[in-house]
Amino acid sequence: MRYSYRLKDDNINIEKILKILESKNYIYDNENPELVFVFGGDGTVLGAVQDYIDKVDDIIFIGINHGNLGFYTDFIQDDIKNILNLIENNEYDISNLPLVEYHITNNQNIYKGYALNEISLISLDRTMIMEIYINDFLFEKFRGTGIAVSTPSGSTAYNKSLGGAVVDINIPSIQLTEIASINNKVYTTLGSPIILGKNINLKMIPVKNNDLVFNVDNRHLILKENVIIETKVSDKCVKLLTQKNRSFFKRVQKAFIGDVND
Ligand code: NAP
Ligand code: MN
Repeated sequence: MRYSYRLKDDNINIEKILKILESKNYIYDNENPELVFVFGGDGTVLGAVQDYIDKVDDIIFIGINHGNLGFYTDFIQDDIKNILNLIENNEYDISNLPLVEYHITNNQNIYKGYALNEISLISLDRTMIMEIYINDFLFEKFRGTGIAVSTPSGSTAYNKSLGGAVVDINIPSIQLTEIASINNKVYTTLGSPIILGKNINLKMIPVKNNDLVFNVDNRHLILKENVIIETKVSDKCVKLLTQKNRSFFKRVQKAFIGDVND
């Protein structure tokens, strides 16, 4: 098995883990790994996925955290041998997590890519004014701070802070949420999140020329005037190795609700 790894910080004893992997005939291959071990938090997994975004179809990611589990990290670091045994005995599940893909034209530049959590577009200073098209139909003219377009697995991240819905990771979809939209007698937006299915093209055209921050998971770039952003559910998925029968809803409960008393 060809493997590679990503680390959040230098706190962990990677040498020891690498020795164990090699003793199990794992072969280090940073270029073309079949399995990528990610030691860190959800943010570390986001970074690892971006590192390998062009090869994502051929890779399985596994997230291994220190103390508490995250949404992409389903294993605890203490027992790497135990984790390898589970893999060896096929005692795991694979989640196929839909990505959101984007295509931006900004004057002569084209930026394309994918996000596992979300893309967001934020105006640095003045009110963002932006036409929002759904399948080339002008749906609304947004005025406010910005918007986010999230995946199902990203629905528990920034999307949730913005009042978006938590979406079952098995529903290939994107969710558009507003960031501080202006709603008054003159300007109106939908005012709630909207969830769009496969094959729907969401196009955004800012109509005022101020700089925008374009975030892709935990990375960002600055867009200048004359921008067109198109986005949709991608055919690409991220394959994430998880514990057997550990449901997404249990994870949501654990993170946001805690124990339920009757
Ligand atoms: P960060 O600022 O350290 O992350 C913010 C928190 O979100 C961390 O606790 C992170 O977990 C958690 N997180 C990441 N993905 C998640 C998911 N799918 N479901 C639930 N929680 C999740 O930056 P980061 O760790 O690099 O993560 C980047 C993400 O932060 C962005 O994609 C965006 O979703 C989110 N974010 C949220 C807000 C907000 O809620 N106001 C603002 C900016 C960005 P770990 O500690 O395990 O990494
Ligand atoms: Mn983080």
